[in-house]
Amino acid sequence: MLDASRIAGFKASLRGQFIEPQDPSYEEARALYNGMIDKRPLMIARCADVADVIGAVNFGRENNLLIAIRGGGHNGPGLGSCAGGLVIDLSPMKGVRVDPDARTARVGAGCTQGDVDHATHAFGLAVPAGIISTTGIAGLTLSGGHGYLSRKYGLTIDSLIEADVVLADGSFVTASKEKNPDLFWALRGGGGNFGVVTSFLFQLHPVSMVFAGPIAWDQKHARTIMQLYRDFLPGAPEELGIFLGLKTILSSAPFPEEFWGKRMCLLMSCYNGSEEKGRASLAPLLDALPAPWLNWMGTMPYPALQSMFDGLYPKGMQWYWRGDFVKTLSDAAIDAHLEQAAKTPSELSLMHLYPIDGAVHRMGKDETAWNCRDATWSMVIAGIDPNPQKAGPVTRWTKDYWEAVHPFDLGGAYPNFMMDDEGDTRLKATYGDNYKRLAALKKKYDPANLFRVNQNIKP
Ligand SMILES: Cc1cc2nc3c(=O)[nH]c(=O)nc-3n(C[C@H](O)[C@H](O)[C@H](O)COP(=O)(O)OP(=O)(O)OC[C@H]3O[C@@H](n4cnc5c(N)ncnc54)[C@H](O)[C@@H]3O)c2cc1C
Repeated sequence: MLDASRIAGFKASLRGQFIEPQDPSYEEARALYNGMIDKRPLMIARCADVADVIGAVNFGRENNLLIAIRGGGHNGPGLGSCAGGLVIDLSPMKGVRVDPDARTARVGAGCTQGDVDHATHAFGLAVPAGIISTTGIAGLTLSGGHGYLSRKYGLTIDSLIEADVVLADGSFVTASKEKNPDLFWALRGGGGNFGVVTSFLFQLHPVSMVFAGPIAWDQKHARTIMQLYRDFLPGAPEELGIFLGLKTILSSAPFPEEFWGKRMCLLMSCYNGSEEKGRASLAPLLDALPAPWLNWMGTMPYPALQSMFDGLYPKGMQWYWRGDFVKTLSDAAIDAHLEQAAKTPSELSLMHLYPIDGAVHRMGKDETAWNCRDATWSMVIAGIDPNPQKAGPVTRWTKDYWEAVHPFDLGGAYPNFMMDDEGDTRLKATYGDNYKRLAALKKKYDPANLFRVNQNIKP
């Protein structure tokens, strides 16, 4: 039992909000993006600044509390929270300062991707990150970060220049190629294992208006589309980010009613450049394919693309995830995908193949903690439904789908697409030869495993 006076002292020391179960804001504060996860922390420290983070880490450690670190709260298995412990919630630590001359941005750890895109777009610049604007930049970055710009500019970690970190002993350090380079190496892919990152310094890239959007076909054409897409990708210009999805057209606006509830094969593209060049880059693929149901590609600001899916995936739905790294997509693997995709248990459930080739491959396997530099795609299968009673069916479908295609894939997966029931073997397969070094650095920076509510690397 925690001494009430200690709690009161900690509360008084914070510049940010302190929330306990009896507080009216507790339910809202503990809610995570994934409605399937229902954790009741003992307390939530909404940190206003680095001093609050130092105080919270020290308080948690000195009182033997389980600690969870929360950025955007988007993590699949809800690793931004913990039952009965202390949540260090960084969401108030927003703020993005763009230096247009150096083309860098200093980003607070509480920012969402949308916050970053908004601030950098004013300068015609962007950080390569994911595809939903409400995702926290912190959790996404620390496990890698991939999206439309990855083929040209690499993973989010490949644009990380520096990070400020509060370590398990409460000390504050900066990690970069020059300062604490071993920690900087580990932060680039090793997740929340090494400390609480309070801000990131990113290299920005020229991205402003993009030619982008979805093209959807009847899923009966999916075999042909997957084969041609597989063969087209290696030769496609890196300015073209293009992922493939097997999913369902939702029975709601803005989709035309004639397609509601029908299974589709999707190509979702973003060409970072003019419409003319974008069309030319896609022509070899599209000219070989049957006529689509819908082609909604057009020229738009990059942040508009980044928030295009936000409304379809609001906070609070049931999500169960499984991922894999995929090197080649054989015809047999395509058949396995098609068999499973035909059994989706809900309209929102999906399989996506995100390309991680091009610039991602130009970094060596041991240059950052993110080892899987030779995969072609990061695959995700996500069972999703708004109804909590569908939690069982969407989970079962995801697991069955994964079991069917996993034999065609590599052993590991993007840690941000893993649940918390996959075990050490999966994590070891993910980090490959880098795992040993990560474990040694965990021992150096967090020997007591204070930060263990994550895809945990044991010291
Ligand atoms: C709808 C949706 C779409 C997505 N699309 C993509 C995508 O396109 N590309 C992609 O790469 N990923 C994508 N993701 C996965 C996403 O990257 C992860 O869910 C990620 O964990 C979210 O980060 P967060 O800060 O919101 O998470 P949180 O739940 O807040 O935190 C998750 C974990 O990150 C760590 N962490 C968070 N903040 C810090 C910090 N400041 N210091 C140290 N550790 C910290 C902790 O270990 C924590 O347990 C998507 C997720 C969702 C739900």
